Amino acid sequence: MSETQRHSYDVVVIGAGGAGLRAAIEARQQGRRTAIVSKSLFGKAHTVMAEGGAAAALGNVNPQDSWQVHLRDTIRGGKFLNDPRMAELHAKEAPDRILELEYWGALFDRTADGRISQRNFGGHEYARLAHVGDRTGLEMIRTLQQRVVQLQQADAAEFGDPEAMIRVFAETTVTELLKDGDRIAGAFGYLRESGDFVVFEAPAVVLATGGIGKSFKVTSNSWEYTGDGHALALRAGATLLNMEFVQFHPTGMVWPPSVKGILVTESVRGDGGVLRNAEGKRFMFDYVPDVFRSQYAATEEEADGWYTDPDRHRRPPELLPRDEVARAINNEVKEGRGSPHGGVFLDIASRLAPDEIIRRLPSMHHQFRELADVDITAEPMEVGPTCHYVMGGVEVDADTGAAVVPGLFAAGEVSGGMHGSNRLGGNSLSDLLVFGRRCGLGAARYLDGLTARPAVSDAAVAAAARTAEAPLGRTAGESPYVLHQEIQQTMNDLVGIIRRGPEIEQAIEALDKLRDRIAGVRAAGGRVYNPGWHLALDLRSMLLVSQAVARSALEREESRGGHTRDDFPAMSPQWRRTNLVARLAGDRIELRRQELPALRPDLLALFDRAELAKYLTEEEMAQIPAPAG
Ligand code: FAD
Repeated sequence: MSETQRHSYDVVVIGAGGAGLRAAIEARQQGRRTAIVSKSLFGKAHTVMAEGGAAAALGNVNPQDSWQVHLRDTIRGGKFLNDPRMAELHAKEAPDRILELEYWGALFDRTADGRISQRNFGGHEYARLAHVGDRTGLEMIRTLQQRVVQLQQADAAEFGDPEAMIRVFAETTVTELLKDGDRIAGAFGYLRESGDFVVFEAPAVVLATGGIGKSFKVTSNSWEYTGDGHALALRAGATLLNMEFVQFHPTGMVWPPSVKGILVTESVRGDGGVLRNAEGKRFMFDYVPDVFRSQYAATEEEADGWYTDPDRHRRPPELLPRDEVARAINNEVKEGRGSPHGGVFLDIASRLAPDEIIRRLPSMHHQFRELADVDITAEPMEVGPTCHYVMGGVEVDADTGAAVVPGLFAAGEVSGGMHGSNRLGGNSLSDLLVFGRRCGLGAARYLDGLTARPAVSDAAVAAAARTAEAPLGRTAGESPYVLHQEIQQTMNDLVGIIRRGPEIEQAIEALDKLRDRIAGVRAAGGRVYNPGWHLALDLRSMLLVSQAVARSALEREESRGGHTRDDFPAMSPQWRRTNLVARLAGDRIELRRQELPALRPDLLALFDRAELAKYLTEEEMAQIPAPAG
């Protein structure tokens, strides 16, 4: 007989990655009783897998770096579609958040004079990523978890109970947000191990559920990333921003098939690795777009000079933003110049000494040796694009993380706006810290203003329980594994890295048909640790998110960042001003166009007029004062 647990908190944070932990720490520090709920084991989140580092303009390696240069790089990388306020807060606050992490015990790699070392990454003008070898996320999560334990120890001393103020519910999946009228009242879920249900009563819920990669066949994402937070937000009445922007990381493993999609960190290129096609040509020089031409090297000699003398050389084109590199690799393969297993070659072996490769990239060395029997100190890796990150997400207020539903907040990858149409590597880890903290604060302030606690109704709990139990009770119905595979194939083939209108329409049709089949999905077995049942419930999220991506991809008739339309290959200045906002109307995704807030004049002044002219409309350009003289 299954049971339903009930818990009452001030703030429930769904997700225990960097954003969730930072939000929970902040809410607790503000004196709020906080629960952290995580679908996977505590400590197992995408954040832990992050390799390259966290971007913050500390200026330790190049003193010319500043928040203004970081903001400029971020907006360039996002192709001018970033929420300006978020990009500004991120660039300004990232250094303090990294130093705070160090204060809490993070051991970053050091410069020769003992400061936090910073490494180069695509799209960042200066060496900017604070890192720990290629295991930065692990150190970030270790430090944040240690901070949670530290707070719990303080609570044990004060209240006699380490979980009095902050408690972790690991291996607990939230399937529904609960509301009282238009306000959030809590969340409903199940314990993965026992299958028992759990109700959290809380006036404030923070979504920090990460990405959506599991809707695509080839992905760097692991099993948890089924877009639950995006779908929970939609079903609760919140809105999603620009879901068409999905980042395909240029370098995932392509061989053997069992590991296809696993990430090969951008640090390989940041530390000198180059991309070659089957003819041995360093092909990225052929793919520098006009908007970036003035910033990137034109010859191999110039590119190589940049690693030792960045002030007198332009950057290598291998370090263009990810969308550009992914498209270039895709094209090389399409035109028959790919590697034997359908990728291209990433070569660090001929660029650094073996012991240096092992020192700087220990995880990559281990990953290729164990999974592909390739020694990256002696031979090149085979790599190709993999679905990695979603720039689209819950529409939030930049300062507080508040979504449009009172009591609902979102931070990290599940939120939208910060990265525009394409995220720069390293900007996610710093985003988690900056906006995780702001979200925790936002939730605490929201509670300050509440006069009465919203109530969770028995009817809402019963309805959530019925929905969760349904796949188990069916005697007929399809396997969740088959349906999952069909969603992934559809998204990969028809809404992938290069998109075409008729193909997206085909995807929308296929997803519509899948909706009815998923509504009747059957999970064999019982409630105790049943991955088939868990997947059956995740399908609901994956379907909704895929529909939002496909609908938005069809609507946006231009190519920008992570969204490439073969039938609309150019960037459109009109679309540059336009956010696509998705909401759920009945069981359909409804889209609305909304004007993007303009960049403030002092932020516009960070860019050359000639560069702005490549993005802005004539009307916008006319309002920018001409340079004096
Ligand atoms: P995550 O860390 O993804 O955590 C999400 C949490 O939500 C997990 O605890 C999960 O269990 C939980 N969850 C999900 N759904 C539910 C549910 N329904 N109920 C309860 N809990 C739920 N970014 C960088 O800036 N630098 C890098 O070097 C870098 N390297 C990367 C390498 C890899 C292999 C990958 C996959 C990503 C990398 N990224 C990097 C991206 C970055 O790691 C992620 O964008 C970021 O960690 C997301 O953090 P988050 O806190 O938003 O969510």
